[in-house]
Amino acid sequence: MKFTELEKIGKGKITKLSRDAEIKELVTDTRNISIRSGVLFFAIEGINHDGHEFVQEAYDKGVRCFVVEKEIKLPDDVNILEVRHSLSVMQWIVTYHRLLFTYPVIGITGSNGKTIVKEWLAQLLDYKFKIVKSPKSYNSQLGVPLSVWQMSDQHNLGIFEAGISERGEMARLEPMIKPTLGVFTNIGEAHNAGFESLQQKANEKAQLFAGCQKVIYSAAYPEIEQALESVFSADTELIPWTVERQEKGVVEMIIGEQILSLRLKFSDPASIENSLQCAAVLHVMGFGVEMIQTRLDTLSSVKMRLEMKQAVNRSYVIDDTYNNDLYGLEVALDFLHRQNQKSKKTVILSDLYQTGLSSDALYQRIDDLMRNLNIHRLIGVGTEISEARGLFHTQAEFFASTDAFLSSDFQVQDEIVLVKGARDFQFERVVERLEYKAHGTIMEINMESLTNNLNYYRARLRPEVKLMVMVKAFAYGGGNFEIANLLQFHKVDYLGVAYTDEAVELRKSGIHLPIMIMNASPDSFRFLKEYNLEPEIYSLEQLFDFNDFFEGEEQVPAIHIKLETGMNRLGFKSEELKRLVEVLKLHKRIKVKSIFSHLAGSEDPRHRDFTLKQGRVFEEMSDLVMKALWYKPLRHLVNTAGIDNYKAFHFDMVRLGIGLYGFDPVMSEEQKLSIVSTLKAHVSQVKHIKEGESVGYGRLGFAKRDMKIAIVPIGYADGYARAFGNGVGKMSIAGQWVPTIGNVCMDMTMLDVSAVEIKTGDEVVVFGESPTIQDLASWVGTIPYEILTSISQRVKRTYVSG
Ligand SMILES: *Cc1c(COP(=O)(O)O)cnc(C)c1O
Repeated sequence: MKFTELEKIGKGKITKLSRDAEIKELVTDTRNISIRSGVLFFAIEGINHDGHEFVQEAYDKGVRCFVVEKEIKLPDDVNILEVRHSLSVMQWIVTYHRLLFTYPVIGITGSNGKTIVKEWLAQLLDYKFKIVKSPKSYNSQLGVPLSVWQMSDQHNLGIFEAGISERGEMARLEPMIKPTLGVFTNIGEAHNAGFESLQQKANEKAQLFAGCQKVIYSAAYPEIEQALESVFSADTELIPWTVERQEKGVVEMIIGEQILSLRLKFSDPASIENSLQCAAVLHVMGFGVEMIQTRLDTLSSVKMRLEMKQAVNRSYVIDDTYNNDLYGLEVALDFLHRQNQKSKKTVILSDLYQTGLSSDALYQRIDDLMRNLNIHRLIGVGTEISEARGLFHTQAEFFASTDAFLSSDFQVQDEIVLVKGARDFQFERVVERLEYKAHGTIMEINMESLTNNLNYYRARLRPEVKLMVMVKAFAYGGGNFEIANLLQFHKVDYLGVAYTDEAVELRKSGIHLPIMIMNASPDSFRFLKEYNLEPEIYSLEQLFDFNDFFEGEEQVPAIHIKLETGMNRLGFKSEELKRLVEVLKLHKRIKVKSIFSHLAGSEDPRHRDFTLKQGRVFEEMSDLVMKALWYKPLRHLVNTAGIDNYKAFHFDMVRLGIGLYGFDPVMSEEQKLSIVSTLKAHVSQVKHIKEGESVGYGRLGFAKRDMKIAIVPIGYADGYARAFGNGVGKMSIAGQWVPTIGNVCMDMTMLDVSAVEIKTGDEVVVFGESPTIQDLASWVGTIPYEILTSISQRVKRTYVSG
């Protein structure tokens, strides 16, 4: 399709045309730009993200074709189509694209299990078909067109999922997917807000199958049955299945006239349902029961997200060993590219199957991508990729098999390594080799939750209000590079840290956002200029030190003036302002970037009057300084709780802290934040002890009866306070709370697990969804801030991302 043809379908207007181009790739996210020509960038205005802000970045990466919703400024060598709604134009293009292919397409919808069923069907069928499928869980109004656009005549089976959250949406997804075979997984309460009833939701979802020849579903859901029967004509064959009997891992299912007896690898109810759904599809596609069984035996569980873990030799490893399609590789390479913790980046990649491209085109494309994304090194594993070695310009080494690679003397050092391979290469073994395993206790940081929380607070700000995020104290225990890196990607305006060395570390790991340092001592001033850092200045004495230090220099770092308005911590008092203003007028090269103060009780309604007074005092004091200056510094006052409670005090910027990390300091009823940090350990040993025996140092814990205890490798040196000992603290094992017994030791804690099923190696949650950091804080009379920031650096952090 040519760019100029878009005008006809999109009902928009071409406002700039330099040279017509063939459209090869649709992109909404500058991170996914890989090839240099034929990329069409859609600027989409979302709730948290305005794509129009990224057009320049897209241009810089070589994009020349744009679909936009408002006027944009770009050089003349571009093509621009202006439309009312960019996304609809994309959906239109894809609807047209779909019509070019006549091979079967499986369409999947339902409340749960869509992605698993899709991935499993691909696992089951990939030995026989060239499959094109939705990457990850791309099932939305945007995800579906991006998925279906990948269809090419190199494939012979499509598998796509569709998800909706309100009425009317399926009618837009259906013509893009146009499934020939439908799977309706189930219907439940997930995402109910947009519907009046479960039945209405089922009816809406059933629209996906409007043109299907056959639809498979479980008869256990009467709403699905009713939805399908009311919607369809006699041309559609409805194929329900039921479970007849289920015993010891063997399930008898009835489908049509047939009874299939199958051994399943998974025993939880959701996996059983998903497995049977897949078995039903295979049956309908004509597979015999033996073949279905053979294929089911190969299923492996599906990991839904990318994980970055600490690796040996100060490296990180990104584990993406479950997915081997090209689009998944692009997503993973981009994820790798976005990590700035280490500048050196390596990809370990196996042969790729089913990409729909010839070997030459495929590996050329991958080489292109890697060069565009500044990937330094490739390790290719497999015969195909090894044969293509001539195509790679990146530094590369090749091995015929995983075994050959693992027995080589491969090393990593100060780098980030993406491990990605087809299942039969068993790259879990590679990850296992690289992973850092000194200490089994880990703090898992969920980057998607962080993003959700960031967006929650962003949505509370007037559009012109800037956002500073506090990443002091190792980003409240979460890890400053990783989190700062995410914040930089999401374009927050400022970062705040406590000390200069924290800021220097951030710069060294590639963070270029402006950084304010709250406590910059004179001996650290020398780093300010070198690393482009901005100190808070809170007293005349410090201001003089600062001025002296940069004596005679033309350029000095910008500063932030802290005012004392009631906290009685650092800050200029009102009686010092006159002098402050004089000094600033005298030394005009000192530029005040912002004026701010800090609220002492913004979370607590009892301090409302006090806080309002702090706000008024801040306004008066900052006015006084502003009047004396000939430019306008930013003003900021509120922290997390103040964002929610004191909208009138947002001024030009807010400072977000604890809320980003998942604790809501105003403790509102609704669960508006997502849990970010989960601290986990694994049971080292389980022991039975007799009534009257004691447990641990100081013999404080006594068994009142015969009991079972578990030893967990986390102690006060990890930040699990001694105060949690002797039953004060509880941890969670498979959702059940168990109390500590005896004193907490330096590296270990004992739990009373008499009431639970448990064995060595089982996971124990110290905090996370349950118990929460609030629970821990209340048990020992402290605040969540202290719980989070106490977790010691020796506890390994892992980052999970969707
Ligand atoms: C830590 C800090 C914040 C953030 O406070 P939260 O309560 O975590 O939101 C804001 N401003 C200053 C000056 C801080 O020191």
